[in-house]
Amino acid sequence: MAIIQVSHLKKSFGPLDVLKDVSFDVNKNDVVAVIGPSGSGKSTMLRSLVYLEQVNGGSIRVQDDDLVRDGVYASPQKIKQITAKMGMVFQHFNLFPHLTVRENLELAPRVVKGEPDEAVRRRSAELLDKVGLAEKADHYPAKLSGGQKQRVAIARALMMNPDILLFDEPTSALDPELTGEVLQVIKQLAREHMTMMVVTHEMGFAREVAGKVMFMDNGEVIEAGTPDQLFEHPQFERTKAFLHRAL
Ligand code: ADP
Ligand code: MG
Repeated sequence: MAIIQVSHLKKSFGPLDVLKDVSFDVNKNDVVAVIGPSGSGKSTMLRSLVYLEQVNGGSIRVQDDDLVRDGVYASPQKIKQITAKMGMVFQHFNLFPHLTVRENLELAPRVVKGEPDEAVRRRSAELLDKVGLAEKADHYPAKLSGGQKQRVAIARALMMNPDILLFDEPTSALDPELTGEVLQVIKQLAREHMTMMVVTHEMGFAREVAGKVMFMDNGEVIEAGTPDQLFEHPQFERTKAFLHRAL
């Protein structure tokens, strides 16, 4: 079953065509790794899915709802409903610095969803435990390492019970020795069949964890396939050249 269906997506910034006719599906339980050179449109694509960017054409369908269809957006209320099904984790964590770890997790469920305190508290404790940070609940983000901050960001995204988690280079801002702990959390989520789309430069991780790898270059999806297809038998020169540089 498709959770996200993207077809003929177009996005430009002024004269710059950043997404040119991008189409792909993400099915339930898929882990899709998105790879490609810097500037190829990976972040813009991900941000478009959650309405952080508005596209100029094409369609994004989330489960059975059209976020945008042939360039025409749903109503603001519908957009909120649709984007609430997706959680996003950014390269630079985007934690609220003036809130403790626990408060970072609990803010949206309490304020946006108006969930009862007890349920929210129980879930934040569970999720902090899951990402190995139970003892940091009352710390402020400034006291945490980059790897810990990113694990908090993942737990915070999970608080909203998303149907899909989107990651934009979750380990790119981290020192190499801290990437492992973040990738471990994502691997664990994959084992639990969380549907995920992960923009990453970690080719080893993509190969090991993703069921599907999508290569973007210059605003286009050049090819997509299993890790074996893409890494061992790339079909296009551009993919080969990129992999040659990246591996
Ligand atoms: P990637 O994530 O693959 O590195 P991006 O989606 O961030 O690529 O960027 C794709 C292109 O769009 C780049 O040329 C970038 O400079 C440009 N771009 C991204 N965001 C903006 C913006 N807000 N305004 C103008 N140009 C942008
Ligand atoms: Mg990017």
